[in-house]
Amino acid sequence: MSTEGVEVRRSRRRRRTVSAYRDGDRTIVLIPASFSAAEEDRWVERMLTRLAAGERRRQSSDEALTARAARLSRRHLGGHARPASVRWVSTMGRRWASCTPAEGTIRVSDRLRDVPDSVLDYVLLHELAHLLVAGHGPAFWRLLAGYPHLERARGFLDGLAHAEGLAPPGEADDPVDGGPEEAPGEPVVVSAETEGVAGG
Ligand SMILES: [Zn+2]
Repeated sequence: MSTEGVEVRRSRRRRRTVSAYRDGDRTIVLIPASFSAAEEDRWVERMLTRLAAGERRRQSSDEALTARAARLSRRHLGGHARPASVRWVSTMGRRWASCTPAEGTIRVSDRLRDVPDSVLDYVLLHELAHLLVAGHGPAFWRLLAGYPHLERARGFLDGLAHAEGLAPPGEADDPVDGGPEEAPGEPVVVSAETEGVAGG
C-alpha cells in the first residue's frame, strides 16, 4: 500500500488510540508518541486499509442513493431534476436534507438511513424538486402533489424529530431543509484501540 501523501503525527497525549482521516489529498494518521518505527509502519498500513474500506462502503451506498433519486425524478418529475450528486452525510444538524441548486448537489442526513422507503423517497423528491423550484411556495408543492405518500411522510418526519428531541427549527419555513445547517465536510475519522489487538 502506498504511503505517499501520508502524514504521521505523534502525540504524547495519546496512549493507545490511533486515528486517521483524509485532509484534501493528504491522509493524517495520529499515533501515540511511544510507538516504535515498526509499530508505526504496521498501524499506518492498517489504518489506510480501514479508511479505504469505509470509503468504498460509503461510495456504494451513495451510488445507490443517486440511482434511487434518478428513478424518483423520472417517475414524479418527468426526469427534469438531474442532480450532479446525491450523498449521505453525517453533519446535517437539525435538517433532514439539503440541496445546492447551483451545483446540483443533494445531501441527505444519515439519520434517515433506517426510515421507511416512502419517507426517504419523499425527502429525495423534496430536494429534487428544489433543483427546479426554490423555496416552499405553491409552485414547489405542485411538483410534489403527485407523490402518494406526501402527508404520511411529513407526519413521520415530524414524529421522528420529536422523538429525537429535535424541535422543528423555529425560523424554518419547512422542517425538511429549512433550518440552520452545520458546516459540511467534517472529515471521516477512523480510530482504533491498539491494546488487545494481535500485533499482526
Ligand atoms: Zn425544502
